[in-house]
Amino acid sequence: MKTLTFKNGQTIPALGLGTWKLKGDECVRAVSAALEIGYTHIDTADAYDNHHEVGKAIKASGIPRDALFVTSKIWPDEQQKSAVIPACERILSELGLEYLDLLLMHWPDRSIPFADTLGEMEKLRAQGLIRSNGVSNFTVHHLQDALETGKEFVANQVEFHPTLNQKELKAFCDEHQILMTAYSPLARGKDLDLPAIIELAEKYEKTPAQIIINWVLAKGMAAIPKSATPRRIKENWEAQNFELSEEDVAKIDAIGGANRVVDGTV
Ligand code: NAP
Repeated sequence: MKTLTFKNGQTIPALGLGTWKLKGDECVRAVSAALEIGYTHIDTADAYDNHHEVGKAIKASGIPRDALFVTSKIWPDEQQKSAVIPACERILSELGLEYLDLLLMHWPDRSIPFADTLGEMEKLRAQGLIRSNGVSNFTVHHLQDALETGKEFVANQVEFHPTLNQKELKAFCDEHQILMTAYSPLARGKDLDLPAIIELAEKYEKTPAQIIINWVLAKGMAAIPKSATPRRIKENWEAQNFELSEEDVAKIDAIGGANRVVDGTV
């Protein structure tokens, strides 16, 4: 299992399970299947309304807390100074956990100074309620302003897949040692039928999803594909078991595009 290291020295398993849209028993089943297969990194968010179910699956797995990596995110309505710490405390109580490995600002909101939210996250780190903090859906100009606050943040979770490969944002994050996590890495299924992906799947005798996930990992990023289907959860996990050649990584890089599948409502 590949791990990546944040600039603060903490590590994150490169491949995690996304949980958007997973609710109720389906969520418990999917997270339980993932933990059984070997995933240790689970991505949730307040907006997904599934903390209880994610927590239930974690508890039932019996996996020691320090072997897991759990990310959650706070929505802009709780990013103001007075709301951040209570929001995190509530998230932890819903998950039944003592701490989060990573807490993200889910979307930027220019009406709330980044320094306020990041400053409160600093206090959460000092209190041991989170190990690391980061941002999500930040563009280069948001990141520049966040960096100017002088407050620590180590990760940016953004939409990233073959038809939206965010070259400038990736270069900026690399330059500033901000680890990028690819959300919607399969473009919610839309990039699985691309001719170049199908061709590579045939060449490596892998599935299109495995080719795309392997490509994200080859770029030094984390990936959090979501699936409710145990067979696919396993298939995605096995995307780590081979290596695309540099030329084939470049072939996928060359696809490019501006095909956004996420509109800011989750
Ligand atoms: P995704 O992972 O790109 O795609 C999920 C879709 O692909 C589901 O319909 C799933 O179907 C299908 N799928 C999964 N594995 C497959 C496989 N091996 N073969 C064929 N189809 C497969 O999209 P996403 O859920 O939007 O993104 C992943 C995670 O990123 C989310 O769950 C969430 O944790 C995170 N996210 C974060 C943000 C943010 O603002 N920070 C925004 C969006 C997403 P089944 O479930 O039916 O198997």
